[in-house]
Amino acid sequence: MSGRRGLSNGGRDPEFAGPAPVNGRRGPVLLNPGPVNLSDRVRRALLAPDLCHREPEFADLQDEIRRRLLEVYGLDPDRWTAVLLSGSGTAAVEAMLTGLIPPDGRLLVVENGVYGERMTRIAEAHGIPHSALRLEWGAAVPTEAVTRALEAAEPTHVAIVHHETTTGRLNDLAAVAAACRRAGVRLLVDGVSSFAGEEIDFEGWGLAACAASANKCLHGVPGAAFVILDRGALPPGDGRARSVYLDLGAHARAQDRRDTPFTPAVPCFHALAEALRELREGGGWRARHEGYARLAAIVEEGLGTLGLHPLLPRGESSVVLRAYRLPADVSYAELHDALKARGFVIYAGQGGLARRIFRVSTMGALEAADLRAFVRAAGEALEDRGRSTNPGSPDSLEG
Ligand SMILES: *Cc1c(COP(=O)(O)O)cnc(C)c1O
Repeated sequence: MSGRRGLSNGGRDPEFAGPAPVNGRRGPVLLNPGPVNLSDRVRRALLAPDLCHREPEFADLQDEIRRRLLEVYGLDPDRWTAVLLSGSGTAAVEAMLTGLIPPDGRLLVVENGVYGERMTRIAEAHGIPHSALRLEWGAAVPTEAVTRALEAAEPTHVAIVHHETTTGRLNDLAAVAAACRRAGVRLLVDGVSSFAGEEIDFEGWGLAACAASANKCLHGVPGAAFVILDRGALPPGDGRARSVYLDLGAHARAQDRRDTPFTPAVPCFHALAEALRELREGGGWRARHEGYARLAAIVEEGLGTLGLHPLLPRGESSVVLRAYRLPADVSYAELHDALKARGFVIYAGQGGLARRIFRVSTMGALEAADLRAFVRAAGEALEDRGRSTNPGSPDSLEG
């Protein structure tokens, strides 16, 4: 999509030929749920000196990232471990499910969006015995339904998405975790779009593992992902792994020896280490959560004055992303293109929601001024559209 329509780029990077920069940025403001706009310090970290992954300097980098990942939620390294992987968030989810469910295990997947359904697809692809509690996209997860499904399916493991990015719904992990504890079942969490942005009480909720990636609430770049797990959740390494590249146990054992089985995405690791330092210096996940909440409120209030309203009731969404209903007479493509021309990238709904919603994520190196500018741009986009479709037309009377 580079260099389209030959617009002058005002002396900015040639790759970013396009709309006028917002608040002096080099490229568009990304309101999609990752990859995110990088801070300057994380971007600079990508230019770290070349590094061989069999040298102690890489082992130091890997150790630092693993230690800092546990620090995000204050986890005790004697009990918990962070296993690094090279790949996107789905790689971490797949490594978690294939690596932690033993051959005689059985998985129950709670589905209320695309990412829950993806975990069922992973179980299918690897022949992991499984069943699913299927809920409508965006629906809340009723604890009684989970309890009944636990009784009916008798799983050894439950998998659930914490923040269902499909709709912005933040699932009630505390309640599901309590049901799993009562049933003596291990809970595996897709925390890809909540890790570092929402509360995750690993110890209190008794999680077995949580998969996430560098390029969402951690503000790193895509290519590095990880699973944080209770060391006791790892089955013995008996050579029966379901995957070679994503063998979580093999990665964990190698990393404990300051080694790595394959070539890692070294530059992405540099960026992740810097992003973790930045998170820590900025006050950790709580400060990030509060920052996101402030930005999301600017968007919600601003879009509200334009007549654009959230899909979910207040308080049921994460602070990371909200879905908004499209007005009946505006298509996603129209809104997207008008906003992109003004320097903002919003995100489409998936599947059956594609015609009904658009999504706005406030993760990444964003400031209040960016979101205020976004709200103004959305107002202009809707106004321009009103001008081009309305003048003199009888349709305009229908509202
Ligand atoms: C982004 C995301 C993923 C992973 O997607 P990738 O494209 O593989 O990075 C998984 N689960 C959730 C909830 C997500 O938001």
